[in-house]
Amino acid sequence: MVYLDNCATTKVKNEVLEEMLPFFVDCYGNPSSKFYDQALNAKKALEIARKRVSRLLNCSSDEIVFNSGASEGNNTVLKSIYYTNEKECNIITTKIEHDSIIETCKYLSSKNAKVLFLNVDRFGFVDVKELDELLNTNTSLVSISWVNNEIGTIQPIEQISNLCFKKNIPLHVDATQAVGKVKVDLLKLKGITYFTFSAHKIGGPKGVGVLFIRKGISLIPLIHGGSQEHGFRAGTVNVPGAVGCGKACELIYNNFDYYSNELIKKTLEFKEWIKNNFENAVINNDCNCIVPGLINVRFKGINNEVFLSAMSHHIAASTGSACSNISSSYVLREIGMDEKSITESIRFSLTYDTDLSELTKILN
Ligand code: PMP
Repeated sequence: MVYLDNCATTKVKNEVLEEMLPFFVDCYGNPSSKFYDQALNAKKALEIARKRVSRLLNCSSDEIVFNSGASEGNNTVLKSIYYTNEKECNIITTKIEHDSIIETCKYLSSKNAKVLFLNVDRFGFVDVKELDELLNTNTSLVSISWVNNEIGTIQPIEQISNLCFKKNIPLHVDATQAVGKVKVDLLKLKGITYFTFSAHKIGGPKGVGVLFIRKGISLIPLIHGGSQEHGFRAGTVNVPGAVGCGKACELIYNNFDYYSNELIKKTLEFKEWIKNNFENAVINNDCNCIVPGLINVRFKGINNEVFLSAMSHHIAASTGSACSNISSSYVLREIGMDEKSITESIRFSLTYDTDLSELTKILN
């Protein structure tokens, strides 16, 4: 079986699992408890994890909040902006965001928020000039994902960040598909106010994520209660999860170039395999500014669900976002593809250590 669905989730790396295990059975104290070693050691581990995340993002560790994942982070940011601007809430986002942004924005629209969903071009890029013209003093938030989860579009985040900084408008970046694949420098990208991602996309565990909140910025928590996570997210912290997330970030920090180069090589190898073996294949996202490892392919004349079911013992891939229960991809529709082409398209997502040697055997 070749696993080619790493944008849906990744395997937990061995080093990550190893670091997590003691925090389930030995050092299981509540990091908010005091006086005894079990708790103090858990707290220490949590702070090391926070440091490791902040080193990867180049920010301060007190700007890092651990939570349950990107869906929670995205909900927290959007709803906090809504609560703070209840009288007049104007959000600008795009038509190809993940469901956790689109559905939250739709919900807030039903509560009188005004949400503008920007169009994107053939490869999923937003028009920065259009965004610039739309921004004004009434804009409450811009929310744009750094990398699209179905077609890998890398948005011009530096330009968007500069724009928002200049105009003093809060910017949220969903970086769930970007972390580990693009270099992140939150010290340089001063316009980014909020930044979210999940650990399970980068070799960490499921159910844990990160919300970056720039120092001095206020936020209304989604979950009220205890004063954990600088008061931004109540509830006993998932210590093994946070430790795993920290370790996954440390591995990326230490091996970024190696992971990137390997992923680029694997991507080229996979594209060659497709071109050499499928005359009817068209790569939907063949463009320079696409993240490596994400190849969206249309097999003309073959329904994607039929293809994936038939291959299910050999290849794991998907028709689009795992979170979306709608079979036909709205992302592909927004980049101008027709319904037939969409239902013939498959997202393959690789990681730096994907073993592609099995693919040839499968065809034989
Ligand atoms: N944003 C993007 C871009 C994603 O790809 C995902 C996961 N598919 C999420 C948010 C949500 O992540 P999670 O399911 O871990 O909350």
